[in-house]
Amino acid sequence: MTSLFSKFEGTAGALGSVVAVGGRNPFAVVIEKPVSSTVGIIEGRETLLFGTNNYLGLSQSKNAIRAAQQAAAACGVGTTGSRIANGTQSLHRQLEKDISAFFGRRDAMVFSTGYQANLGIISTLAGKGDHLFLDADSHASIYDGSRLSAAEVIRFRHNDPDNLYKRLKRMDGTPGAKLIVVEGIYSMTGNVAPIAEFVAVKKETGAYLLVDEAHSFGVLGENGRGAAEADGVEADVDFIVGTFSKSLGTVGGYCVSDHPELEFVRLNCRPYMFTASLPPEVIAATTAALGDMQAHPELRKQLMANAQQLHAGFVDIGLNASKQATPVIAVTLETAEEAIPMWNRLLELGVYVNLSLPPATPDSRPLLRCSVMATHTPEQIAQAIAIFRQAAAEVGVSPAPTAA
Ligand code: PMP
Repeated sequence: MTSLFSKFEGTAGALGSVVAVGGRNPFAVVIEKPVSSTVGIIEGRETLLFGTNNYLGLSQSKNAIRAAQQAAAACGVGTTGSRIANGTQSLHRQLEKDISAFFGRRDAMVFSTGYQANLGIISTLAGKGDHLFLDADSHASIYDGSRLSAAEVIRFRHNDPDNLYKRLKRMDGTPGAKLIVVEGIYSMTGNVAPIAEFVAVKKETGAYLLVDEAHSFGVLGENGRGAAEADGVEADVDFIVGTFSKSLGTVGGYCVSDHPELEFVRLNCRPYMFTASLPPEVIAATTAALGDMQAHPELRKQLMANAQQLHAGFVDIGLNASKQATPVIAVTLETAEEAIPMWNRLLELGVYVNLSLPPATPDSRPLLRCSVMATHTPEQIAQAIAIFRQAAAEVGVSPAPTAA
């Protein structure tokens, strides 16, 4: 009889060799207690958090915490139903109004997670006979949304508008709508998409454009509306998808658009229709965090200054850091034999980052994915850089770190 579990033998072997290095599973780290937005207790020790998505530190917003407490007291802790049945309270509609007003768009749909927002929007918009053009480095939620849709999927080279243009031109005259999907800031590498160039391609080819601003919402643009705002091309982006689980510090996803048909997407979108809506306390906390984000543009300035400091520090000690200084900074290592002990040593010395191993990385090399927050102090960043230097020297990471 075939075992249901034989397919996990590869995973078991790979995980076993990762755990053997440092005696811990990098994919099962427990934050025993978040002390603040930047420090958590891990393995009983205060550890600097440089591997969250809490870019503005708003998971600890006093306004959001108070709003959550009041909403739970007033409305209960759950809705027990989907958005199209009993799961829409006034709070949900208010948040949708606030999100669409923030983006200056006609309408917004709020989903239970950012993952479901991509899953739902992509699979509902692109149907049988349509064509989806995906950046090769797209997030899993974009790929999964494409698999759930009946559309044909065409991948183009990462951040390469010319390659996209060629692929679209090849489809000239073929029936079916065309939807391009890109991200604002890529989650693993911090690469920023050239949105204005993608807009030019979209206009020339008559395709639609969806931008997932998950990591750029609250981060890029004068008002924090993301990469499309930063490039001055918001009006030409058909759909913006994003999440509350990063810069707003809560959970949930959204899609905003000027297309009036979004109203009908609500009634065809399975990941919106067939799951419970977000509980009142999360919705209220998100609305409050959105208010915080708008009231404190200085957080965004501090975030970018902090990103520059961490990036410059990595370059200075000879690490192979991301090209651009965004709040997502990846340190690429050549081999897993370097990356796994380096990750373990960083944690032992008091810095938590995300370990990412091939095949889950864009260029088949391991990554230490670091993220910066507006609430990190210059001292915390300097301490993290010093710990990276020590760990790299101890592990013998190449290129060899240069002395300060
Ligand atoms: N899109 C991108 C680009 C992401 O990086 C993520 C989360 N890592 C998501 C969507 C999903 O968001 P959430 O975790 O809020 O479901």
